[in-house]
Amino acid sequence: MSKILNGRKLADRLNVELQSQIESIFKKKRLRPKLVTILVGEDPASEIYVNIKHKTCKKVGIDSLMVSLPESISREELMSKIQELNEDDSIHGILLQLPLPDSLKEHTSEFIEYISPKKDVDGFHPLNRGKLFDYNEELVACTPKGIIKLLEDAKVELQGKDVVIINRSNLVGKPLIFLFLKRNATITVCHTSTKDIESHMRRADILIVAVGVPNFVTKEKIKEGAILIDVGTNKIDGKLCGDVDFDDVLEKCGKITPVPGGVGPMTVSSLMQNTFIAFKKILGLEEK
Ligand code: NAP
Repeated sequence: MSKILNGRKLADRLNVELQSQIESIFKKKRLRPKLVTILVGEDPASEIYVNIKHKTCKKVGIDSLMVSLPESISREELMSKIQELNEDDSIHGILLQLPLPDSLKEHTSEFIEYISPKKDVDGFHPLNRGKLFDYNEELVACTPKGIIKLLEDAKVELQGKDVVIINRSNLVGKPLIFLFLKRNATITVCHTSTKDIESHMRRADILIVAVGVPNFVTKEKIKEGAILIDVGTNKIDGKLCGDVDFDDVLEKCGKITPVPGGVGPMTVSSLMQNTFIAFKKILGLEEK
């Protein structure tokens, strides 16, 4: 069996399955999900991410629209744009691409709270975060959702496993805590103030690393047979790489996600799934 947890392959498969579900609803009801992304300013990395999301929408049959707003937009104007999208019944998912420009950054949580929780396909609204606290996984943040899907699809046993997460962000680490806890794993969360972080890494059955530092994980720091989930996205000489020294750990680890082709495509696939979930819920189309 391959050691590589191929996120690209799984995401492609899930996208094909989703496309067929979307087409089947379209045939019966003449309705399709619609996702709107809001991009403020001209951050090149954000533009690339948003374009990938729109391309995938097209593949799976989700209508999508990008609302590009100038960096000079005021807090009030952005709130009013969100309100307009909240009230538009033809829209089922709203995604505010982060990070926002410096002028608006301090209001990020306020904007997220303003998005209708029903259309919050990023799973960032406090209501959806709170539901996860109760193990309700209706709209879960896309990267953690994709990681769990990848592990479950590969039939990696989670019950009773020691999971070490190096990241405590709202985007990655915090949602993962509840997703793993629900699946009866034992979780340790590490960050920049963790003492002797390597001792935690060395005892992990499953190690999730999302620090944004190339070669942060090498073979001396892992347990034999460990499952490694590399969330990091870094560039070395213009080439994309993760936080794990892939070639160094490959022989010793049990399984590993490559970068690119691991967690990234699963994140986008989860966004498609979330948009479909929001669409069905808003229109009352869920299977009984
Ligand atoms: P973030 O908010 O900056 O979080 C980074 C986390 O790593 C923080 O918890 C930080 O600790 C910890 N950290 C950083 N350096 C460390 C060190 N030397 N030792 C221990 N802990 C350390 O970033 P993020 O948004 O969560 O993203 C993290 C990485 O994942 C980035 O490379 C990002 O590009 C990538 N990412 C990829 C995807 C994908 O789809 N592939 C999605 C999301 C994020 P403190 O909390 O103490 O600062």
